[in-house]
Amino acid sequence: MTEAAAAHPSPATTFDALELSEDVRKAITDMGYSTPTPVQAAVLDPIRRGKSIVVQARTGTGKTAAFGLPIIDSLIRKGQPELQALILVPTRELALQVAGELEKLGKYRGTKIAAVYGGASMERQVAELAGGAQIVVGTPGRVLDHLRRGTMAPKSIRIFVLDEADEMLSMGFAKELNAIIELLPKERQGLYFSATIAPDIERLANRHLRDPEYVTLSSDQIGALEISHYVYVLRGGLDRREALAKIIEVEDPESAVVFCNTRDETERLAEFLKRRGYDADWLNGDLEQRERERVMSKTREGKLRFLVATDVAARGIDISHLTHVINADFPENPESYVHRTGRTGRAGRTGTAISLVGPREVGSLYLLRLTYKIRPFEKDLPSAGDLKTREEADLVQFFVDA
Ligand code: ADP
Ligand code: MG
Repeated sequence: MTEAAAAHPSPATTFDALELSEDVRKAITDMGYSTPTPVQAAVLDPIRRGKSIVVQARTGTGKTAAFGLPIIDSLIRKGQPELQALILVPTRELALQVAGELEKLGKYRGTKIAAVYGGASMERQVAELAGGAQIVVGTPGRVLDHLRRGTMAPKSIRIFVLDEADEMLSMGFAKELNAIIELLPKERQGLYFSATIAPDIERLANRHLRDPEYVTLSSDQIGALEISHYVYVLRGGLDRREALAKIIEVEDPESAVVFCNTRDETERLAEFLKRRGYDADWLNGDLEQRERERVMSKTREGKLRFLVATDVAARGIDISHLTHVINADFPENPESYVHRTGRTGRAGRTGTAISLVGPREVGSLYLLRLTYKIRPFEKDLPSAGDLKTREEADLVQFFVDA
């Protein structure tokens, strides 16, 4: 692994120091980016040189632009209208988000981008593809569908990106991935991006990529960087929702994404919080597209205090402005913990992760300590006395503010 690349990213401290076209430089300025993130600085040159790479960098470190920049700046041939880059992502939200970011990067270069994902009109996507997309961002099932129907031609694809590779495998997309890869030209550049690199990703890379370079950033402290981790261990008999209400009262988070392990629970918990007078809403795979978009835009605009969601629904969507991540249910595997808590503390801001741990979840907590060396600080559930103190503090604050 080229740890060196991570420890000493190229000396560029601003985008001006990188050799980018005027078009892309202007787009980046519009987007308000001034400094490349470490992963962006580390992979720009290898990607431009045509290397296949496997990149591990934690959630929120700017991986989209890390592959988007060199692809749009140098790899897409402007005069060639055919499909040249295929980017696979695990969910439709991510397909939209990644395509949106690439649109912005390619705004002045006129790069043509299409997003294809399940649950949306096939006809519209077919028309968009026929119109000549140079880059396609899509979910595996729908991409495979287009390839098999012949509505997407793979023969001119030179760049293949696997985004959120770990999520892709943990969501069970291995079969689709392999089927898609089979249909791609053998001469291609492969770029695999992931928050964690498990052995199955290394196997996939070694099987499909020619002489890949491994770039790893902050592998020994994934997710632990700017985030404070706390757990509340629930002792027998206590209702989880009641416990959560107490914790919220004491911790008083400005805003939070609250994770549940099941779809049903997101709805129940959001309703519970609403009944307690909190501003809460839920996001899960059962919601209609329009409803999802409504909740997502409320979240994006900072108009929602508690977003209650499943892993799948919240995957990859940008909620970096939220101050807290709360695990109402403790995640079943450590990767999922890293993903969830990586959603806060982005771009140098500090975040807080709070988990409720029931008797049956202690094993998962133990596994997290072993696997990622993340050792959350244990707190006790607030007693009635603590709550009283909190109320008094609020009252004092009220007089101070007034
Ligand atoms: P990842 O894929 O690693 O989870 P994203 O690509 O989704 O991260 O980026 C996370 C957030 O950081 C996004 O809101 C993105 O717009 C922002 N971002 C990316 N690169 C930069 C940069 N160089 N400067 C400032 N913000 C950035
Ligand atoms: Mg990403």
